[in-house]
Amino acid sequence: MDNDILVSRARTATITQGATGYLTIDLAALGRNYSKLASMLAPVRAGAVVKADAYGLGAERVAQTLYDQGCRHFFVAQFVEAVRLRPALAESAQIFVLNGLQPGNELACAESGIVPVLNSLAQWRQWSATARRLKRNLPAVLQFDTGMSRLGFPWEERAELAAAIRDGANVEILFIMSHLACADDLESGQNGEQFAEMARIADEFPGFDISFANSGGVFLGDAYHGVLARPGIALYGGAPNAGGNNPMEPVVRLDVAVVQTRTVPSGAKIGYGGAHVTRRQTRLATIAAGYADGLPRSLGDRGAVYHKGIRLPIVGRVSMDSTTVDITALPEGALSLGSLVEVLGPNQTLDDVAGDAGTISYEILTGLGDRYDRQYC
Ligand SMILES: *Cc1c(COP(=O)(O)O)cnc(C)c1O
Repeated sequence: MDNDILVSRARTATITQGATGYLTIDLAALGRNYSKLASMLAPVRAGAVVKADAYGLGAERVAQTLYDQGCRHFFVAQFVEAVRLRPALAESAQIFVLNGLQPGNELACAESGIVPVLNSLAQWRQWSATARRLKRNLPAVLQFDTGMSRLGFPWEERAELAAAIRDGANVEILFIMSHLACADDLESGQNGEQFAEMARIADEFPGFDISFANSGGVFLGDAYHGVLARPGIALYGGAPNAGGNNPMEPVVRLDVAVVQTRTVPSGAKIGYGGAHVTRRQTRLATIAAGYADGLPRSLGDRGAVYHKGIRLPIVGRVSMDSTTVDITALPEGALSLGSLVEVLGPNQTLDDVAGDAGTISYEILTGLGDRYDRQYC
């Protein structure tokens, strides 16, 4: 066996019988990424965004690893995610639902100790009414819209909210927050605009702790840090800022097996639609991952995989379960049935693949399918 992935898996764990793709998630690297951000932020605390199953990497394992590194604030998007994650974490971990409170969910949310991020007066009223019904205080985070127009109290609800807070409403506000739309772009003027709006909000709602920065925001400087940051992608090895060097360590490696090789003459049509026609005799390998496994169709005739550092371009369209690559650059016989090629790894980062696919690292990670043999190391 010439492949180190298979060798190490055979030594350390059971390989999923018949698996043809190997996803390796490096929890130690994840922990180091957390420590790096935490030390950049100190004394500001570093929370973690673990929504969408921790960007596809497994919310439980990821959250437990970060808890061991000292993380106590975990953000998910939806209540269902919070309910699934809650039993995996100690009591001292708090779980926040960014999308807020949905009608019908109030009691379940209150009973589970999950903290909703309230985004509107409607959600505030639901939560406050629930608290009064239960005759106790309920915790919440308030999110304000500072210019993204997505989630959070719009400016026109602020006066009424301030009055409601003064009246006391059995809601214990843990902190207030907002989200940056352009934090990945250090040059964007919108960062400063949102910062100024957040400063106005801090004046209107004095005395509350602030959470503002996502991954990109951590790199915008101390002013953006508030008291609690909410990094996501940087923990998972994605570049927090567009362009320049990525200071984070890669966390994910993906190797995929060859399921067939062949040699075709010049003029051969490859894949659906006959979209690629060879211009010379070409050696091909078909690998066992397609768009159902998270290789976007937009990689057709654009992306590549690697073998021993050699780039193997994707030729023709990406299929649902397979992708064909040009292996002419490799010595004859270098790849055969069961050989592995690198999709994500030392030769090709998450951001490289995202760039080739015309998307962002987030979409690549959250799209990684569940047919891979997953191993945490
Ligand atoms: C997703 C999300 C984050 C994390 O963003 P990254 O860019 O992945 O660091 C932080 N805050 C909110 C409100 C989010 O929706």
